Amino acid sequence: MEDIIIQILDLLREGQVVDDQVLVKLIHAAAKRAGGDKRAFAKRRLLPFYQSVKRDDPKRWASWDVTPELEGRLLHVLRMKPRRSASGVATITVITKPWPCGGTCVFCPNDLRMPKSYLADEPACARAEQSCFDPYLQVSARLTALSQMGHATDKIELIVLGGTWSDYPVAYQTWFMKELFRALNDDAVSGVAANPLLRGFPGDTANDSSSLDAMPVAVRERRDQLASCGLADPNCAEGRPMAQATPELEAVQAEVDAGHMTYNEAFHRLYDASDPWQHVASRQRASLDDLEREQRRNETARHRVVGLVIETRPDAIAPERLRLIRRMGATKIQMGVQSTDEWILARNGRAMGTEAIARAFSLLRLFGFKIHAHAMVNLLGATPDADKADYRRLMESPAYRPDEVKLYPCALIGGTELCRFYHEGQWQPYSEEELLDVLTSDVLATPPFTRVSRMIRDFSTQDIVAGNKKPNLRQMVEQRLEGQVVQEIRMREISTSAVDLADLRLDVVAYKTATTEERFLQWVTHQNRIAGFLRLSLPHADALAALGNDAPVGPGEAMIREVHVYGMATPVGSDGPAAQHHGLGKRLVERACAIACDAGYECINVISAVGTREYYRSLGFADHGLYQQRRLS
Ligand code: SF4
Repeated sequence: MEDIIIQILDLLREGQVVDDQVLVKLIHAAAKRAGGDKRAFAKRRLLPFYQSVKRDDPKRWASWDVTPELEGRLLHVLRMKPRRSASGVATITVITKPWPCGGTCVFCPNDLRMPKSYLADEPACARAEQSCFDPYLQVSARLTALSQMGHATDKIELIVLGGTWSDYPVAYQTWFMKELFRALNDDAVSGVAANPLLRGFPGDTANDSSSLDAMPVAVRERRDQLASCGLADPNCAEGRPMAQATPELEAVQAEVDAGHMTYNEAFHRLYDASDPWQHVASRQRASLDDLEREQRRNETARHRVVGLVIETRPDAIAPERLRLIRRMGATKIQMGVQSTDEWILARNGRAMGTEAIARAFSLLRLFGFKIHAHAMVNLLGATPDADKADYRRLMESPAYRPDEVKLYPCALIGGTELCRFYHEGQWQPYSEEELLDVLTSDVLATPPFTRVSRMIRDFSTQDIVAGNKKPNLRQMVEQRLEGQVVQEIRMREISTSAVDLADLRLDVVAYKTATTEERFLQWVTHQNRIAGFLRLSLPHADALAALGNDAPVGPGEAMIREVHVYGMATPVGSDGPAAQHHGLGKRLVERACAIACDAGYECINVISAVGTREYYRSLGFADHGLYQQRRLS
């Protein structure tokens, strides 16, 4: 292992390119020399090995003579899954504890181990279950994994999933957020030597027994707490499920799957009567003062929150709730829209109509949130043509126009009400050809200011009774799109590529919504690839007046809803070709201020994340209630 690292360093010093092909050759040669299995030298093990030596054996690491500049290039070679931080930030998805939902959607899964609508096999859910849904433990585990994969973790987007956020008690919401920030502020990264992947491979003397227990104290304490409440097995290893499914849970799940009980009824039977869950729940409370203390710590912490996303239903969106969500630090809302067709919504048991959805869009936009909509195709009663029209309406009607969209083809999951319709012949999955046709049409109908962030749910194939089981559906759609003009953001992102600044121009796309004039400012190359963007909202005075005292801002106040500059997430202060370090963000903000001023606005707000407050202060913004604000002149 050490040989490979030293060879890579030598090649880099000589100015040679070390790509995956070169790396594979080095790995094969090392395996041959050791007469062993090349898996022992796999790429995924190189970086943890390097980090463990640097951390636990400083003398040996010093003998390699690695300068900061050389280390940057080495990490670039060893980094796994570069796309994970290609958008400029590292993402951590966490899941809230099992909880019911007021909705009655026919397609919605009923896994009692999870909050309504999630399945335990989905990767983020499996990780959450391993941590008993504890936010501190979930963040610690992901920070550790991201660090081991070589990703910079100084800028973090937190995505909080789990059904309807506002349905949880406020004390739980506040505690959950406080714990997320606390884990980041504590730098709760387990020592890389604690990773079982690192144990016992040839040449790895860094992993002696003294370095294996590198779990942060707060993590150990929280695990002990959960064990003392009876929720977790005190002896389970890190990375193993702490709470196992009980026979009672399995029995009640069978009742739900047979349609004899709803998820909500089963939830109350299982969790209301569970001493461990109730005991743990009694500790899951915090005040807003506690949360704000952790937020202030985060402003200058090593891992700063540069985006915070929560998930909710459109009919659960109301001004007082948005005010609270904003105080908690959220900057983006994910909401299940699924369809903008009244008949389809009703046929699928959605407990809301298009009026509630349109109102949710309007409120979110006036409050300055980024709007991430979930849209489903192949719902009960839908046809491919109706789906295409439905999606076009979502993109084109001023009532909607989301900033981001997750496209989910409806899949049949065991135990849902949709199974009955399937067996009665009233619903069937689209053929692969029909599905690809609809999704291709949807991507082509997506405007330049909207990002299609996903095209499938992370369901495992075992959970899908009928419907798409291909995890590479997105790639199949992208193949069909080759040679066609695609406007949506994700396919235009510069991703991990270097940027030629001379090739960039600042383009402004104007569009209208029911309550605002929108300006989408984008840095684009001559090939229309996108290196950064800003969302500016210019609210209509009458829309704010209609909200009365609920209006989040006054007339004459513009709103920056998002600033995003692409480039591999690199630690703050480091050099590199990444777009983030060339002042592109600052120039976007200055241009937005000029546009708002020209349009007659007196000041401009920014819905800043807690970890970006310092940045906006440096640009002349002052803290101002729910936002940061700058006067325009
Ligand atoms: S609103 Fe969402 S979580 Fe609730 S039943 Fe419908 S899909 Fe499931």
